Formats: sequence, C-alpha cells, structure tokens
Amino acid sequence: MKILVLNCGSSSIKYQFIDSDKESVLAKGLVERIGMSSAVLTHEPLGKEKIRIVGEILDHTIAIEYVIAVLLSPNHGVIKDKNEIDAVGHRVVHGGETFTGSVLITPEVLKALRDNIELAPLHNPPNIKGIEAVTAHLPATPQCGIFDTSFHSAMPPKAYLYGLPYELYKRYKIRRYGFHGTSHRYVSERAADAVGRSINELKIITAHLGNGCSMAAINKGKSVDTTMGFTPLEGLLMGTRSGDIDPSLITYIMGKEGLSLGEMNTLLNKHSGLVGLSGESSDMREIETAVAEGNKKAINAFDVFIYRIKKYVGAYAAAMGGVDILVFTGGIGENSNLVRERVCEDMSFLGIELDMTKNENPPADGDLSAEGTKTKVFRIRTNEELVIAMDTKEIVDSMAKN
Ligand code: ADP
Repeated sequence: MKILVLNCGSSSIKYQFIDSDKESVLAKGLVERIGMSSAVLTHEPLGKEKIRIVGEILDHTIAIEYVIAVLLSPNHGVIKDKNEIDAVGHRVVHGGETFTGSVLITPEVLKALRDNIELAPLHNPPNIKGIEAVTAHLPATPQCGIFDTSFHSAMPPKAYLYGLPYELYKRYKIRRYGFHGTSHRYVSERAADAVGRSINELKIITAHLGNGCSMAAINKGKSVDTTMGFTPLEGLLMGTRSGDIDPSLITYIMGKEGLSLGEMNTLLNKHSGLVGLSGESSDMREIETAVAEGNKKAINAFDVFIYRIKKYVGAYAAAMGGVDILVFTGGIGENSNLVRERVCEDMSFLGIELDMTKNENPPADGDLSAEGTKTKVFRIRTNEELVIAMDTKEIVDSMAKN
C-alpha cells in the first residue's frame, strides 16, 4: 500500500510518500512559506533528482495540489495516477481525551478535532486544514489521524492530574496529555526488539530530545508518565521553551515586566530554554561549540539541560520500580555524544554505564551500554512517519475486511 504521510503546520507541510509493504520512502519533501507569494516546495524522490519549486502557494489546499502534482511529475514523480495514493495519514498534535488511538477520519472525527482546537490552538487548526485540503483533491481516499497524545492516554490519574481544583479538570479537561507519543512508542518498541524481549516485560525510559524535548516512562509497553503536560511547554529544558518552572513566576514576571498574557506566553515558549539561558542559540550544536569555548552562560544552559534529564531518569526509575532500557532519540539524542555521555555520567547506581567507544561511534540503532551493565542504553533513530504509515495501513486493511 502506498501512503502519503502529512505533517501540516501553519505555514509548512512536511510529507513522505511511503510504501508500507516495503517500509520504504518513495519520496519526501517540504512545502514552506505557505500563505506567501514566494512559497518553496522541496521534493526528494527516491532514485531521481531532488527539485526545488518556488511559487505562489496561498493556502493548504494549493499546497496539497502542488504535492500531488510533484508526485505525478514525469521527471520527478513516483506515481502515474493519483489513485496510486492508497491512503493518507496525518500527524495530529492533540487528540484530547477523545482519541486514545489512531482513527479513520470521518465527519464525526473532524468535528471532534474541531472541538479540541482550544487544547492546541496553534497545532490542530493547520492539521484540520490539511485534512480538508486532501478531501478537496482526493475525496475518495481514506484519511487517518495519528495523534501525538494518544500513546500517553493510558497514564493513570495520579500521573495526569494536576494539583488544581478537580472541577477545572472536569470543566476544561485540564490534565497532563503528553506529546511526541508516536516517537516514544516507536523507539520503545525498537529497543525491545533489539534486546530480543517482549515489551510487555520491560521498563523503558525514552528521551526524545529535539527542538522540543520530552521523556516518557514506559512500563510493559504503556506510557505511565511523561514530562510534557497540558501543552508541550512542561518538563525538560528545550531549545526555546522553559520546561518546568514555579507557576508563581508567571504572575510575578508579568507584574515586574509589565507583560500581557500573550507576551508572557511568548517569553515562555520562544525566548526561554537554551536560547534564554545562554543568550546564544536554541541550537544544541551551537551551544556545544560555545561550551567548548568556555562561554559561561552556554555552560549553565547546557548543565540545566542535562541535569533535568538526569532528574527525570531518576524519577521515572522510581515511578516504575526500576529501569531496563534508556533510549535516546530526536536530533540531539541521536547525534550528540556529549549529551548522552553527560546524562549517563554517575548513573551506575541505576545500572547505567556507557561504553565510551560505542557512544562516540554509535552503531545504527545500537546498544551503547558497557559490557555487563544491568540497564541498556540505546540510541535509536526515530521514525514517526513510518508509524503513521503503518497505523494508516492497519486501519485501511481492517476497513477492507469489514
Ligand atoms: P525537531 O524537534 O524540530 O524535529 P530535531 O529532532 O531535528 O528537531 O532536533 C533538532 C536539534 O538537534 C537541534 O537542537 C540541533 O542542534 C540538534 N542536533 C542535530 N545534530 C546535532 C549534533 N550533531 N550534535 C548536537 N546536536 C545536534
């Protein structure tokens, strides 16, 4: 089955066209600057030349038209007829409490997604626009929604409830939801495969460290806790997001600096984290360079980043009564030897010890732990698009059977 996987943002659409039988990517690309007259589509077809098209792409419907056209293009395309797109899988950020697994998109599902807009005002509207744009061009093609939140929906109330009046949970659905669920699920399953054991008997801690960062405690294949919360702002220090802070700071800073609600929100989401503390950059490569040059603010930012991950490793080992595998993934987790080294430093009390040679030259999706250590440390390349394609295939296959 050939599946178009879409990740629709407000001004961009990332896509992959995946052959789910071979688990291979036939083409991938990105449409950027949607809404502008100089939007850019970059398209990389398997075995053919990469192309870059600049054009006026004023909305998501036109963007999807471009994506379909380039998939059909005689020189750069990978299909001859748009009916070869068997299904479309959408990454949807927030499923709220409604969606505990991936679903076929129906008019009822679309309505429920619209009802959840308040929970993810920045993310869900472009996801919905993407679904509507596909419907406009491929009305008969099944579309599925794969949610960032659904893997965490098995969390127990003690992990998802905040210490706020319970009525607020009932009235506004205020609770921990967690994000990056597709990635946490994928890398934990890969790690279980790699140690040759059933995920149902393992305690796994996954650290997805990219521009956004989150960790999850996965006990017997189920996410029992995660660091991101009601929104993707809570938890670890991130590129531009603060992660955990004392909630009283919000009113305190607003008072001191005379900030509006919107400005405070921007401060926490865009000007905090690595960039806020270092005053240098939100990019871990640049932070590492500044650390190597002895830049004190960058060293502080890096130390806070590492320390918080270590604290959550301890917390999640306590939450699960142990840990068998620690997995690093995401742009930083996969590529930064230094981050992995520093997180695993002085962790032998949890049976965590890195093999430094393996950490510096990590084998693909390999075990980086020192010989004979109790807890295995893995670096696994995440592949959220593949999960979306495989879930879509499963849903479409089950439709065909019914
Ligand atoms: P996103 O969360 O947007 O998907 P990524 O998962 O691609 O982002 O992660 C981006 C982060 O990965 C950036 O902070 C970048 O600096 C970091 N990164 C990428 N390569 C390296 C590297 N070799 N060493 C350290 N950090 C890296």
